Amino acid sequence: MDLGEFAMIVDGESVRSRSGRTFESVDPSTGVPVASVARGDLEDVDRAVRVANAAFEGRWRRRPPAERGSILLDLANLISDRADELAALESLDTGKPLHEARLDVAVAARYFEYYAGAVDKIFGQTIPVSSDALAFSSREPFGVVGHIIPWNYPIAISARTVAPALAAGNTSVLKPAEQASLTPIRLAELGLEAGLPPGVFNVVPGFAEEAGRALAEHSGIRRLSFTGSLETGREVMAACAAHVTPLTMELGGKSPHLIFADADLRRAVPTIVEAIIHNAGQTCTAGSRVIVDRRIESDLTELLRQRLAGLTLGRGLDDPDMGPLISQSQLDRVAGYVGVAQEQGATIVVGGERTRPGDLDGYFFQPTLLADVQPEHVVASQEVIRFQGVEEAIRIANDTPYGLTAAIWTSDLDLAMWTANRMEAGQVFINCYGAGVELPFGGWKQSGFGREKGMEALLEYTQSRTIAAVLAKP
Ligand code: ADP
Repeated sequence: MDLGEFAMIVDGESVRSRSGRTFESVDPSTGVPVASVARGDLEDVDRAVRVANAAFEGRWRRRPPAERGSILLDLANLISDRADELAALESLDTGKPLHEARLDVAVAARYFEYYAGAVDKIFGQTIPVSSDALAFSSREPFGVVGHIIPWNYPIAISARTVAPALAAGNTSVLKPAEQASLTPIRLAELGLEAGLPPGVFNVVPGFAEEAGRALAEHSGIRRLSFTGSLETGREVMAACAAHVTPLTMELGGKSPHLIFADADLRRAVPTIVEAIIHNAGQTCTAGSRVIVDRRIESDLTELLRQRLAGLTLGRGLDDPDMGPLISQSQLDRVAGYVGVAQEQGATIVVGGERTRPGDLDGYFFQPTLLADVQPEHVVASQEVIRFQGVEEAIRIANDTPYGLTAAIWTSDLDLAMWTANRMEAGQVFINCYGAGVELPFGGWKQSGFGREKGMEALLEYTQSRTIAAVLAKP
């Protein structure tokens, strides 16, 4: 399949990179290129930031909020109208099963719908100082927001970060990941179709060291939202230090499922498995540590094994249970981690090998469950760790530099709430996993700071201004 060339979107137009260079986007199921993409660099980023700033001042920030909301709602509807086409493109570019890609597209539409409805409800406060003074605060946009996103959920994360930024009155320059840039480019095209003025939502695809670095270092960026790995996050923070650019950092996780002895395993097991196989485990919230009461460890392990062993793997567009990893380097990394875990004494319950479903030559790795894992082991698959007593369960769950999400499985509400209150994580789920657009999302500890989703994200994309006046007697 050849989808041709994908241009960058700058100032309302599809344009080639200034250098004329392109790079290939590969189908991870086969390793074969499916499209060529404009390869943006410093010059393109600089132009995008300048036009975004002009659009901010001239066309967007002073537009009545209800009008901005109406355009964002139109965009939500366009995404829904084009759901089939967008989902197929996402599945092809990332390798994820079609049903997952459809979900991502529906979520992308929902972000625009949610924030469209919030645009004219961003309130300030009046502040009591004295009866002869008037003091109030308002929430103001920053200006040009930079968005650097990863390859695992290109359309959903684009929407998650751009929708609240635009709703708050900012304009955006987004750099997608080089492995998966196609749907963010389509999203910006749909934005234009929905009526976003030129320059409000720009997409500059390209490589980390060219476009990514240029965006993080640009003095015209007034706020930056980064989603990606911890190591890259540190580099981006350092780059932002030069201009004291405020940041939202959404980094990795090693999220635990705590399974108490009275948990309803029929309910828990499908969700635990889904939480690790979704997007082939390439999710910051992947529930990769199963911390289980030792009394039910063998029952749970067997149920997980059965379910994981029965999963189908294949090309995303054929809609299997699980697709390939995104790239050869990711495949090598996962295989390396499993090897290290075995050397450290972990045993493979199921999986553990590279595979070629239907002779596909892409980056497939079997769904893998490891047992006999010690809390200090470093592994990148799903692992089972046993505990004895709630205190130990909590200690193991929190014993990681990360703190993104956690899940608690028990029928005892007191135990659930007591444990939830002690989780070092931005989101805690009880007898469920995964949250919608409405719930603030972000990390504790080295999982990052700032919040995406919900009304908290909208506030992240605003800054407060207080005006105070002392009233003299006329
Ligand atoms: P991964 O999830 O593959 O570990 P990264 O965290 O490295 O990905 O990358 C996430 C995003 O950050 C991608 O869009 C990538 O191009 C970009 N990126 C990587 N390194 C830098 C950097 N030093 N400065 C700015 N952006 C970067």
